[in-house]
Amino acid sequence: MECQDYGLTRNTERRNLNLNPLQRGGVLPTEARIAMYEFADGYSVCDYCAGRLDEISNPSIHNFLDDLANFINVDEVRTVHGAREGKFAVMHALCNPGDAIIIDGNAHYTTHLAAERCGLKMVEVPNTGHPDYEITPEKCSETLENAMDKGEDIKLILLTHVDGNYGNLTDAINIGKIANNAGIPIILNCAYSMGRMPIDAKALNVDFVLGSGHKSMAASGPIGVLGMKEEWTDTVLEKSSRHGVKEIEMLGCTSRGAPIATLMASLPFVVERVNHWTDEVQKTRDFVLKMEEIEGVKQIGLRPKQHDLVRFETPAFDKIAENHPRRGFFLYEELKKRKIVGLKRGQTKWFKCSVYGFSDAQIEYILNSFKEIAVKEVKKE
Ligand SMILES: *Cc1c(COP(=O)(O)O)cnc(C)c1O
Repeated sequence: MECQDYGLTRNTERRNLNLNPLQRGGVLPTEARIAMYEFADGYSVCDYCAGRLDEISNPSIHNFLDDLANFINVDEVRTVHGAREGKFAVMHALCNPGDAIIIDGNAHYTTHLAAERCGLKMVEVPNTGHPDYEITPEKCSETLENAMDKGEDIKLILLTHVDGNYGNLTDAINIGKIANNAGIPIILNCAYSMGRMPIDAKALNVDFVLGSGHKSMAASGPIGVLGMKEEWTDTVLEKSSRHGVKEIEMLGCTSRGAPIATLMASLPFVVERVNHWTDEVQKTRDFVLKMEEIEGVKQIGLRPKQHDLVRFETPAFDKIAENHPRRGFFLYEELKKRKIVGLKRGQTKWFKCSVYGFSDAQIEYILNSFKEIAVKEVKKE
């Protein structure tokens, strides 16, 4: 059999400035690229395994997990294949089919899928709608009380720390308190926050935290982080009756090669970078103000920004698209000419972007490019 050329070359990050929020926090530092190469082979972390992935001492997964647990302030931590697998594991361990859980109205689709896979009923906390789309502690409280009044036995609450649509940071401390007071375990989904900003699970009043290595922790992935309080370890990390050392929800072993090697190699880099989070937020706020100097560009979601993911409504660009020979593709194409990528092709009504990790000069260049495109295309009309 002859195989095709599968197009396995990629220079997106090397040759361009990538504004895709999904990808900004998952770029590997050099040390992780080296680890990626060293551990590229299948089952490569298993040379010295005695039956438990989390206890392997060479490479030092055991010490790494201790450091990771300290980093996010949890009693116990495991790596999983992604934030989604972490949600599924907790839901599966704590709930039975038909049980009800509370989720926020800005939850990621994988929250819905994990709950569906477990056969759970989802009761949603609505957001405040346009333009803030905020999830408030008051609404959480109200939704919980209403559900309990209706006789629902709520087994779990899942709060999205920073959502992927608006980049809103939720008030985890207070929503955590509501859950604690009601005696209901709460998961904080930190896919967009852990590894970008400091996370202290105990200070945030949550039972579980989830992270995404490939989203926000400079790892190749797929890999996720599942941290928990001591009191949940017996349930979530219950061991097999047939294979005494193996944890059931982990299906024995989770990440066993390059994904965990890159997460490990990046941890010192990530531990350091969260110290600069306030600078990143400031850069984002400045970026928003300058983008809004373009008439017909407006940031939506909470203001001022508390996260690097920004959603803009952009009637300015949509208007240009109406009369442009390339229609909605003009924006993507004009940016691409300037080596700026990460916006969806054809999208002009609104878009999401992030300048996380870019230098001031790079941000300046990005801003000028947007402004230049807006002015040039309007002039042509
Ligand atoms: C990206 C994202 C996920 C999915 O993360 P994986 O690690 O790929 O499973 C889940 N939740 C939120 C809020 C996200 O932004």
